[in-house]
Amino acid sequence: MWWKEPVTSLKGIGVKKAAELAELNIATVGDLLEYYPRQGAYLDYANLKRIKDLLTDGSKQIFKAEVCQVRNGYGSSRRAYTLVTVRDETGYAGLYFFAGQRYKAQKLALGTKLLITGRVRQGRTAKSVSEVDVQDIDAKEAKAPGILPVYALSGNLSQNNLRKWMAEALKLAAKDLPESLPEAVIKKEALPDRLTALRNIHFPASWEALRSAKRRFVFEELFLLQCGLLYYRQQNRDQREGVKHGADGALLRQVREHLPFELTEQQQRAWREISLDMQDKRPMHRILQGDVGSGKTVISALALAKAAENGYQGCIMAPTEILAAQHYDTLREFLQPAGLRVALLTGGMRARARRELLLNLELGLIDVLVGTHALLEEDVRFAHLSLAVTDEQHRFGVEQRARLANKSQIAPDVLVMTATPIPRTLALTVYGDLDISLMKGRPPGRKPVQTLCYNESRRREVYEGLVRQLQAGRQAYVVCPLIEQSETLRVRSAENVYEELRGGVLKNIPCALLHGRLKGAEKEAIMADFAAGKIKALVSTTVIEVGVNVPNATLMIVENAERFGLAQLHQLRGRVGRGDQQSYCVLLAGTDSPEALARLQVLHDSEDGFYLAEKDLEQRGVGQLFGLRQHGLPDLRIADIMRDTDTIAQVRRLAGQELAKPNGRQELRRMVDMQFGERFGMIFNT
Ligand code: ADP
Ligand code: MG
Repeated sequence: MWWKEPVTSLKGIGVKKAAELAELNIATVGDLLEYYPRQGAYLDYANLKRIKDLLTDGSKQIFKAEVCQVRNGYGSSRRAYTLVTVRDETGYAGLYFFAGQRYKAQKLALGTKLLITGRVRQGRTAKSVSEVDVQDIDAKEAKAPGILPVYALSGNLSQNNLRKWMAEALKLAAKDLPESLPEAVIKKEALPDRLTALRNIHFPASWEALRSAKRRFVFEELFLLQCGLLYYRQQNRDQREGVKHGADGALLRQVREHLPFELTEQQQRAWREISLDMQDKRPMHRILQGDVGSGKTVISALALAKAAENGYQGCIMAPTEILAAQHYDTLREFLQPAGLRVALLTGGMRARARRELLLNLELGLIDVLVGTHALLEEDVRFAHLSLAVTDEQHRFGVEQRARLANKSQIAPDVLVMTATPIPRTLALTVYGDLDISLMKGRPPGRKPVQTLCYNESRRREVYEGLVRQLQAGRQAYVVCPLIEQSETLRVRSAENVYEELRGGVLKNIPCALLHGRLKGAEKEAIMADFAAGKIKALVSTTVIEVGVNVPNATLMIVENAERFGLAQLHQLRGRVGRGDQQSYCVLLAGTDSPEALARLQVLHDSEDGFYLAEKDLEQRGVGQLFGLRQHGLPDLRIADIMRDTDTIAQVRRLAGQELAKPNGRQELRRMVDMQFGERFGMIFNT
């Protein structure tokens, strides 16, 4: 198959060029063809302008000119630039290059003919061009009509290199290119076939053709991703027998009667959904999405009790030792009175204790196992696992979820709990293989956390407030972005703040420093002391971000809050406001920038995690927050989860229909493999 051949099989690509292509993640001819031109970057020869005719409205335009001067200079705030002056028969223009672009500009020889794209504005003496992209024109190509692609480059590769090789590869494709979407789908959506689309995304016959080519590839990518996820779910459901748990019985009633509170309506609904899933023979694949503090833990306790009631074991996996330890405490409190045996497995356990625990587990003497990813290790074997819960899912990938589910001959029910509210479309993509239960709002009796945004000038005042809270018998968190002082960042570190407080306002008050570099046992001891009220103030990094529950903590101060994302700050804030006292969250910005303060102000205005997550996405883009890779899924090349929301909803329906057709699955599996290769294979094989 030519598309799996290394790029060196193409004419003109030797070892050296292949190495440069490898930097662009291009190894095979197929990779090359899927290396699409930069977003929006095509050269339209039909639209070539003369300098005289360039509009100065800041829009992107294309023109042809000759280099007549190159010099360096400094702009406002001493930013170095290289100015290349070019001319054609109608006038002069100045091209401005900054930073990494300067090197290439400085090498331009006088008299070189260039094809130039960039944003054009009116400068003082001549038209000035920024965001410049230039290419040498060789005489032959300059005459070529039509639209040419512009690729992101590495090393010494040139646009002409890539265009030439692309054309070669397309010749191979013309002879033999398997389709990657079902015929029916192509027809229904009026998409161009794969070869036409490939040709047009590289060398568009027209702008219209380019648009349909892009539409096809966006559709294809999302459709196949969705198929992969759905296929995974079906396979899991069909190939391995699940456990049919019975309806809630005496044990569950006992657990529920001993709960210190009534379930809220939202919790009851979530529990009904989960409970029904567990009573079904098909394995459950459900995500429980609830804002911080919405009370997810108790729901997991009920599910674990249900597994035990039916004579099976359950486990719950948490992303940090602190959180695992806390779940262990909570679950013991909820489940032990009903006679259930709960155990904790962490990475830092002594060998002997661990051996004993694992033996008990295999003998079925443990009903509920709580732990970190230590649960995933080979030698952790259950007697009969029927429920695997993972908490705070965004830290675990699809792969880890699958590994946990594979700890049993029977397919256990899988429940994923997450506090990171994810916009619906994103959830469909990332969790396409899961059903979703939502819990909005929080249990009654909670006062909203009052959030205040200040700049540093009010730090003294803020810490005086801290002392007052502590004197009133409350506890507090102080969160910093870094552990140690950094040479380069002007940011307050946890160590510094801790020393400062101990030597200052908190002199006679027990406080502690908590961060990710401490050993598991140390962290647990500190958290236990904090939970017991022995430690009044906890200075920490974001290790406390997820899940920690100490109701007496009523104040959180975040240093350099501008360095955190909104969603993360919301998670942090969720550590307070867990009791019936009024709680406060003070965001101290280490900057006076009005934008930074305005951004933080959003937290003052809203306590709705879903809203904040959307805001965060708007501000930072999807990549930063929820990279697909973080979820163990392949990255997308051309589709954009935030932009292509309509397509996502559409492909989800279509993927379901296609998979349901006879022979649909084999065919789709082939297509998914072709698209995502090994990356999805692992999931399919579980
Ligand atoms: P999260 O969803 O963030 O994991 P938790 O499960 O830690 O939230 O619950 C937060 C707090 O709310 C805990 O102290 C828990 O005991 C309490 N809680 C949960 N459900 C209820 C309820 N129905 N009524 C009152 N308090 C509740
Ligand atoms: Mg939780």
